[in-house]
Order: sequence, then structure tokens, then C-alpha cells
Amino acid sequence: MLTSLSGRSVIVTGASKGIGKGIARVFASKGAKVLLAARDLAQAEAAAAEIRASIGGGGGIASAVAADVSSPEDCARMAAAADERHGGIDIVCSNAGVFPAARLGEMSVADWDQVLDINLKGTFLTVKACLAGLKARGKGRIIVTSSITGPITGYPGWSHYAASKAGQLGFVRTAAIELAPHNITVNAVLPGNIFTEGMEALGPEYIARMTSAIPQRRLGSVEDIAYAALFLASDEAGYITGQTIVVDGGQVLPESPAALEDL
Ligand code: NAP
Repeated sequence: MLTSLSGRSVIVTGASKGIGKGIARVFASKGAKVLLAARDLAQAEAAAAEIRASIGGGGGIASAVAADVSSPEDCARMAAAADERHGGIDIVCSNAGVFPAARLGEMSVADWDQVLDINLKGTFLTVKACLAGLKARGKGRIIVTSSITGPITGYPGWSHYAASKAGQLGFVRTAAIELAPHNITVNAVLPGNIFTEGMEALGPEYIARMTSAIPQRRLGSVEDIAYAALFLASDEAGYITGQTIVVDGGQVLPESPAALEDL
């Protein structure tokens, strides 16, 4: 049994849908005070209301703020909101991300910049905005949602996305060293294929192909990622920093598709 996170102030970016919403729900269900950030405020508020209804009287809190993580001003406003509403910042889940596909021949500079701005610069800006709040606590947790795509694998159409997700790990490792004297750990979760709204938009054919490439023969759930984040946020994970946890049902393990044929 891990030490309770009850009363801890948690920011989750990209929390109006998918993995971020799952992380927010699991932390709130454990009694944390969770601030959900996304660009579309109405959708983030709807997610916060759904979470409040689902946790009932469990002690957790969930509310929303509009923030585009590629904007330094928005990130500062997000950190200030957590400070005002929850009296500080203990845990930051930098999860917001986009994954539009474009092959190299068709990829524009604007396509590249958009993905890098949100996924990689957004992680830097989120962490930077929350640093003072985390340092003031004398301890803290930063958990980045990266991906298997980039750090471990590649996929046609996602060279910009893969670069952003691999770049996050370089950031994590260096930030982990810089923030170690402040008792702040910085780690990443690397999801495989997780069933979310964003994933659903890639279509049934993509989902069927991915499912057949996963030894566990199912896509992951948002809770599969949320519980890995919850562990990294726990007091018990305090000596783990600059590391990654792959949560993918074994997807990166087969050395070729043939390894799955006899299952
Ligand atoms: P999703 O269902 O599309 O949800 C994305 C969330 O991020 C939404 O809340 C969206 O809300 C928010 N967002 C997008 N751009 C933003 C911005 N500029 N500023 C603030 N929020 C922003 O995506 P998901 O599948 O849950 O993915 C979440 C994270 O997991 C991403 O970093 C993704 O790369 C990573 N991941 C996902 C999978 C997977 O299989 N699903 C696998 C590996 C890694 P708004 O549009 O309103 O801002």
C-alpha cells in the first residue's frame, strides 16, 4: 500500500480527454486536488465535472483551466491557478500532446513546428511555469507522458511526433539532475497504443492492425497509464528519477511479427 496522495495538488495538462483525463480521474479518486488543463475550457470543465461525479465523496477535488501549453503566458496562468485554488503545486503531469500524421515529402515546416511546439516545448514551458511552486514545497514530482514512438520505435508519418517524444526524454534526464537537489523527481511514462479519443480518430483499421501487434492482444486503457503515473508520483518512488516506464502490453518486445504468429 502506497502512502496516500490525499490533499496533494496535481496539475494535469491535456486532461480534457484520453490519457490526461484518466490520470486526473485516478489521482482525484485517491483524494488529490487536481487541476485539469486544456485549450478547450468547456471540454475541460465537462471532464472535471464528470470526475467530481465519479469520485463522489472520496475527498478529491477536480477543476479546470484553459491553457495552451505552447504559450508561456498560459502555462504561468495555469500554475497560478493551482497555487490559488490548491495552495501550491506538488505533482505535475505534462501530458498534453498531438499526433497528426504527415510523411516527410508532404510535411510542412508548420506541421513540424506545431508538433514540436506542443509536445516538446510545451513540456519545457509546463515544467518551467511550475518550478517555483514545486521548489517551494521542498519536494515534488514531474511525470511526462512520452511514447514508445520515438524513444524506442518509429512509425511512418510521425517523424515530427517521434522526434518530440524522444526529445522529451533528453529533457527528463537533464531536468532530473538539475532538480535532484530540490527533491523533485522527473520521470516519463511511455505508452504503447492506448484507447483514447485521439486514438479512435486514427480509425478502426489502424486500431485492428495495432491490436494484432501487441502480445497482450488489446489496446491499453487510460488507467494503465494513470496507475504508472500514480506510482511515480508516490512517496515510495522518491529514489527513482530520470527514468522511463514502458506501458504497452509487450508491444516493443517481438523481434519480428513472426514472434507473435504462434501465440
Ligand atoms: P487525446 O485523446 O487527443 O487528448 C489530447 C489532450 O491534450 C486533450 O485534452 C487536448 O485538449 C489536449 N491538448 C492538445 N493540445 C494542447 C495544447 N496545445 N495545450 C494544452 N492541451 C492540449 O490524446 P491522448 O491519446 O490521450 O494522448 C495524450 C498524451 O499521450 C499525448 O502526449 C500523446 O502523445 C501521448 N501518447 C498517447 C498514446 C495513445 O495511444 N493514445 C500513445 C503514446 C503516447 P485541447 O485540444 O482542448 O487542448
